[in-house]
Amino acid sequence: MPEDDATIRHSPAPDPGRNSRVQVAPPRVEWGSAPAAVPAAKPVRRGAAWMLGGVALAGFVAVGLGAWWVVLAPGGIPVGPPVVAAPAPVQAEAPPPALPAALPVPTASRLAALPPLLEEAALRDHRADAPVLLRLAENPAVFLIDFPTLEAQGAAMNRIAALVEKAGLPRDRVLGEAEMAAAIARAGDTAATFYYGHNYRGSDLQRFFDLAQRDAVVLSPGEAWVEAQVRLARGLVPAGQEMVLLSIAAPGPLMDATGRASILRHELSHGRYGTDPAYAAGIREAWRQRLTEAERAAIRAFLGREGYDTADEELMINEAQAYLLHTPDPRFFTPAHIGMDEAQVERLRGLLRQP
Ligand SMILES: [Zn+2]
Repeated sequence: MPEDDATIRHSPAPDPGRNSRVQVAPPRVEWGSAPAAVPAAKPVRRGAAWMLGGVALAGFVAVGLGAWWVVLAPGGIPVGPPVVAAPAPVQAEAPPPALPAALPVPTASRLAALPPLLEEAALRDHRADAPVLLRLAENPAVFLIDFPTLEAQGAAMNRIAALVEKAGLPRDRVLGEAEMAAAIARAGDTAATFYYGHNYRGSDLQRFFDLAQRDAVVLSPGEAWVEAQVRLARGLVPAGQEMVLLSIAAPGPLMDATGRASILRHELSHGRYGTDPAYAAGIREAWRQRLTEAERAAIRAFLGREGYDTADEELMINEAQAYLLHTPDPRFFTPAHIGMDEAQVERLRGLLRQP
């Protein structure tokens, strides 16, 4: 893939299936709230039945007919001959009540609609045949949409990239479809290669959807589906905790599995930067205090060539940590990209990593 697409950038071909899913946002569910209740009361009720059965049996007196045995059915319900009496020892010798043959199986709940928690290796190896929302096990404030193709990713995410971080495009409104297509063409890209991966904070995503609504911009089916995922994710993180939504696509003709793994690593670092204030503060400190202006300028120049908005200093810092520390694939980043040699970049890495 071309080097200048290293921004790790992406469009689901609209299809009726996705359209239909878009209409209704998944319910907000607090993590962990759903599974608790079902089985807990069962043992208590069984114990109570057993005790009540014992009291009743002990209260009866044998009347004339010799020994009838009483059998306790599972659950403590007496069955057997029409007995009136049971000698006291029966109670002691009777087997403990067995479990009911089948506990009620919890019905499909809202739990099933929650994004699965996957670790990085599982995210890397995951392959989606339809867009799906996943969640990073190591940091549940980080969500990831895995798209089946770069085209699907682009149709859902490119206009968000245009609003949030793409150089030379308006920061205060959502582009029309024709404007978006023109911007992609000017960049020498297609909708598939505009971005290979994406990362946005919850607040940036909310701004995109608010602006679209303000200006009555019609969302593409993919964008509307993303909006529903954002609503779901928002409801899963604690109030006041920022979330980050990442996206990547399955390997294909334009991106191999190694590239996907590197892009994932890059995007996950944005996830950490956006949700771990101490990590972000350390990187900002290093950028401002330890790097020289010449070093910052070299990195900004590279990011500018990649199409990032160099006027957005926070974006520069976030991308600097992602490219220098967390982009192992040399097709996306090498020291030469910022006009340095390996030793110089290693020194910068050391500075950025300092606590
Ligand atoms: Zn990045």
